[in-house]
Amino acid sequence: MPNQGNSTRKVDVLIIGGGVIGCSLALRLAQAKLQVTVLDRNEIGLEASSAAAGMIGPHAEAVEPADFFNLSVASRDLYPQFATEIEELSGERVGYRRDGTLLVSFADKDDLDLENVYHIQKNLGFAPARLTASQVLEAVPRLSPQVRGGLLLPGDHWVDNERLMHALFIAGRRLGVSFHTRSAVRKLNGRDRRVQSLEVDSGTSAAPSIYTAERYVLAAGSWSGELAATLGLSLPMTPCRGQMLEFESAWELPIIVRHGLHYLVPRSGRRIAMGTTAEYAGFDRVVTGEGLRSIVTGVAELTPHLADMHFRRAWAGLRPDTADHLPILGYGDWENLLFATGHFRHGILLAPITAQLLAELILSGQASQPLDLYRPARFGP
Ligand SMILES: Cc1cc2nc3c(=O)[nH]c(=O)nc-3n(C[C@H](O)[C@H](O)[C@H](O)COP(=O)(O)OP(=O)(O)OC[C@H]3O[C@@H](n4cnc5c(N)ncnc54)[C@H](O)[C@@H]3O)c2cc1C
Repeated sequence: MPNQGNSTRKVDVLIIGGGVIGCSLALRLAQAKLQVTVLDRNEIGLEASSAAAGMIGPHAEAVEPADFFNLSVASRDLYPQFATEIEELSGERVGYRRDGTLLVSFADKDDLDLENVYHIQKNLGFAPARLTASQVLEAVPRLSPQVRGGLLLPGDHWVDNERLMHALFIAGRRLGVSFHTRSAVRKLNGRDRRVQSLEVDSGTSAAPSIYTAERYVLAAGSWSGELAATLGLSLPMTPCRGQMLEFESAWELPIIVRHGLHYLVPRSGRRIAMGTTAEYAGFDRVVTGEGLRSIVTGVAELTPHLADMHFRRAWAGLRPDTADHLPILGYGDWENLLFATGHFRHGILLAPITAQLLAELILSGQASQPLDLYRPARFGP
């Protein structure tokens, strides 16, 4: 039997998952004076949200369809205010920068890809800039002399996502968000299309604690599907593993550089994060020999100076992918259960807009932008 003795008092909103999505929403709801509890089975922000590269890159990703691109741009536009607010509330820096992304070419196929991105962005009214090989090397002198040209996308930003998670946690706590870590949600209990409670393992007792709230938000990243299944819901979600490396260089990388799946992202202290892989290998977030090999090979093509850099660490995270690669946002068939999950490769980018729209739904019943494309029910019953 669940341990009723451990139950907490009923709060306004219980958020399952303390990643960038859950914590950003918690912040917005706490600012609106709601009582919010975030439950995480681990410490806050240790999964995909810390594993990410931190790119806020709607332009480099050229995300589709158009509605999703617009959502991504709207989220990017919220970032300056979002980052400032979090820094002021927490007293921590989040390493937010707006220097753009540089896409580079090494082959005919890359030239075609860059031209494609150029025309898409130009037609959308943005200002991509074609760079010759010498302009690329002027912008980033340590790149390979084999580079054939580049495309500068000034509208892309980036953030140090590990710092962002730390700052979000502190900011939330200062606003009164209650964070329950090492608290794994085992089951959602529901009746008559309403979630009644959560059963939570906190490790202190064999029986789960019972948590209750007016509303519940499922923001458990790659694990959202298995939690939805406890209510009999089927969310077609698959974890997509991404591996990353970090080196320290003797020189400063001024801007994000991307070539296909491979990229260099500047971090403070002359650290450079390098990625990545995209593997559908279950929930195992190990770093593999093949993952390391493919990243090192790809990055070595970008810069011969990799050879002199000092290796710092390697890690892997699970991107919460969905059947159509789009997020799952808003209410489904359960009247007090909201979904804020499935952000796949774009959860850092989409955190501010997700938090804003979900907070609007909770506070007023209406989001300021249509969420039809992202509705949970699109996958069927
Ligand atoms: C290598 C890599 C690079 C990436 N790069 C970028 C990038 O540059 N830009 C970008 O925008 N996005 C990027 N992403 C994607 C981004 O990281 C994710 O979309 C985003 O972090 C998802 O956030 P989330 O809060 O939904 O999930 P998560 O950060 O995974 O958080 C989910 C949380 O739920 C908790 N949880 C799970 N099960 C339970 C349970 N039963 N009970 C309680 N808690 C539970 C977990 O412990 C976790 O803390 C990258 C991802 C990876 C892996």
